[in-house]
Amino acid sequence: MAVPRCRVLLGPSSDVILSIEMSILPILRFPDQRLRETSRDVTSFDDDLKRLVADMTDTMYLAEGAGLSAIQVGVPLRLFLVDPEVAARPATDPPVVFINPQIVRLSDEEQTGDEGCLSFPGIFVPVKRAMTAEFKALDVEGKPFTVEGSGLFARAMQHEHDHLAGRLLIDMVGPVKRQIIRRKMRKEAEVEAP
Ligand SMILES: [Zn+2]
Repeated sequence: MAVPRCRVLLGPSSDVILSIEMSILPILRFPDQRLRETSRDVTSFDDDLKRLVADMTDTMYLAEGAGLSAIQVGVPLRLFLVDPEVAARPATDPPVVFINPQIVRLSDEEQTGDEGCLSFPGIFVPVKRAMTAEFKALDVEGKPFTVEGSGLFARAMQHEHDHLAGRLLIDMVGPVKRQIIRRKMRKEAEVEAP
């Protein structure tokens, strides 16, 4: 579901009206059960898919996320984005779009670092991941590509890939921490309830 478009008017002159149309999608938060769904392959590379990618891009940037998977906006498709800077590309590049991604290789070398998730706002927990990850996927036109990343990029790809199988940050921690996260997220949901 998309919230109403917000039109931003730039410039004081009525001669020069630039309108930016953005669609910000609501991001599902734990314990929303939809986050546990297993996503299915994208089969049509049409305008709807491009619209979804554009909306997810706006949503990810507004939330200042390093990555976003489609299931986090309630769409159970095997698709995720990674912020261009996280993917070691210029900040002006569009996010890297991974469609029907597959892990080609994970390094034996590991990294442990604090990891967060837009579906668990304000929560960061140490998670062990492969230091380097190689993925293959399709782009928004359906063209295959392979990419290898290390450090934060590798972490982001592994994190987003987990989402497609319904695997979440909370599954990566021990029982005590899991209980703390559960309580914190429940409390937050109560505060925000009307
Ligand atoms: Zn996440």
